Amino acid sequence: MTDTLIVGGGTAGCVLAARLSADPEHSVRLLEAGSVGLAPEGFPAALLDATRLPIGADAAWLWRYPVTLADDGAAVMGNIVRGKLFGGSGAVNGSYFVRATAADFAAWSRALGSSTAWSFDTVLPAYRRSERDLDFGDQPWHGRSGPIPVHRNKNPVPVSEHFATSCAALGFPEIPDLNGPAGATAGIGRVPCSTDDGKRVSTASAYLLPALGRPNLTVQAATPVLRLRFHGTRAVGVDVWHDGRADTLWADHIVLSAGAIESATLLLRSGIGDPEQLRALDIPVVHAAPVGAWFTDHPEIGLEYRSGPAERATVPLEYVLELDDIEIRPYTVAFTPGAQRLGVALMRPSSAGVLRLRSADPAVPPVIEHRYLSTEHDRARLRAAVGIATEVLHEMSATPRTDPMPHQPAAAAAWLHANLATSQHLSGTCRMGPAGDERAVVDESGRVHGVAGLTVADLSVVPVPLSRGPQATAVLIAEHLADDLRRSGGSRTSQSL
Ligand SMILES: Cc1cc2nc3c(=O)[nH]c(=O)nc-3n(C[C@H](O)[C@H](O)[C@H](O)COP(=O)(O)OP(=O)(O)OC[C@H]3O[C@@H](n4cnc5c(N)ncnc54)[C@H](O)[C@@H]3O)c2cc1C
Repeated sequence: MTDTLIVGGGTAGCVLAARLSADPEHSVRLLEAGSVGLAPEGFPAALLDATRLPIGADAAWLWRYPVTLADDGAAVMGNIVRGKLFGGSGAVNGSYFVRATAADFAAWSRALGSSTAWSFDTVLPAYRRSERDLDFGDQPWHGRSGPIPVHRNKNPVPVSEHFATSCAALGFPEIPDLNGPAGATAGIGRVPCSTDDGKRVSTASAYLLPALGRPNLTVQAATPVLRLRFHGTRAVGVDVWHDGRADTLWADHIVLSAGAIESATLLLRSGIGDPEQLRALDIPVVHAAPVGAWFTDHPEIGLEYRSGPAERATVPLEYVLELDDIEIRPYTVAFTPGAQRLGVALMRPSSAGVLRLRSADPAVPPVIEHRYLSTEHDRARLRAAVGIATEVLHEMSATPRTDPMPHQPAAAAAWLHANLATSQHLSGTCRMGPAGDERAVVDESGRVHGVAGLTVADLSVVPVPLSRGPQATAVLIAEHLADDLRRSGGSRTSQSL
């Protein structure tokens, strides 16, 4: 019997635990740091309500991190959150469930050296397996019986409808299915959402809950993993904190699904990273690897405008305007009282961020520098994006509440910095790529180069910026890698070893 220990019961971790434990020959233990239980009785109502993001100052189910979004001499600081509960960030997110495009997977394949392992055609079955598409389930590129219900709102609120008709008036075509086969790159489309009757559906409720009775699946909440244990270069166990005391758990194979921030910090704390930085923190080096050295995320500018009377509650996003590497989002939720917001996001930035440890102490959050807008390409594309969004607002006859972006490039750059935010889509801290690639941490099966018995399976592994929000792709990664892990029994090692 193969014994797999999964660290992190978030979006990817719940999928993996359910798919691996479907094989009775596989014994699976899932460890989650958060302490919210899984039982539907007593489950916090705020987490089910898909019309609000449950990430307020008093929310007890979050990891919180200070970040530096940009630094052009004056640092632009920010704060980001991640879900700390079963279902992870997918249990607190906006329910937007859009696939990455065929072009993204072509770029992903190029990053692997033209491998077909992550081509769109290869991964499509995993996307299909994950979903129960209630609108297009009869189409060959969709699934109709997967765990996650996906549908597009038939009755959008006026602010969404107004945005859509204004985009149409400006000549943007309609994309009937944003999860369509070619991943249409330009136009206005209704957002596929992972909700059920207004309730947020996470992979905890869709995948893990139905699997809980299996005798070969052990699930533990309130069990943060502090670091990994190695025998030489083989991962053999994890140190945890549980019930007020430290413990060590052993396994044949360890899978990190702790999310792009915590999977990376676990590797670093356990001695896999830049040797110089690790030694400076008195962490014994197990293997040199560029963990955290090139992450990606979507910079976003919020354009606020005066709203009409209160609307009925709905999901945060019902429509989006896709313009290849730009996504314009007419949020239905008010971030500022009395105002609506168009989010203007750059989906394929060329600048990359850096994550590194501040301390070897697991209680100390890492340094996270997004380094947004550090290339002229990104500044120019975001300026163009704001220009298009301003035209849409004009067409909507909306009264702006954000000062207009100046035309002069230096003043426009300062304006971008002043209005800069993030979409909270951090990925790529442990990039996939062939051995010898200076950016690669894992191989195309998620196995960490240079060590044995250790896989990363979450958004950490994505080697390119994704043109869409990452939730559907986090599920896909776990579906796809679960296949690999089941086939190999977790026993193969990275060829670079
Ligand atoms: C507020 C918010 C809104 C978002 N909205 C959207 C959206 O609408 N659409 C979209 O596409 N994307 C959205 N995203 C992004 C998306 O939800 C995440 O990128 C995705 O869920 C990440 O999946 P993951 O499996 O990589 O990590 P996560 O889902 O974050 O899972 C990581 C899990 O590991 C656990 N963990 C971490 N460290 C440890 C440890 N040491 N020991 C044990 N357990 C640990 C965590 O508690 C968590 O449960 C949003 C993100 C946020 C924060």
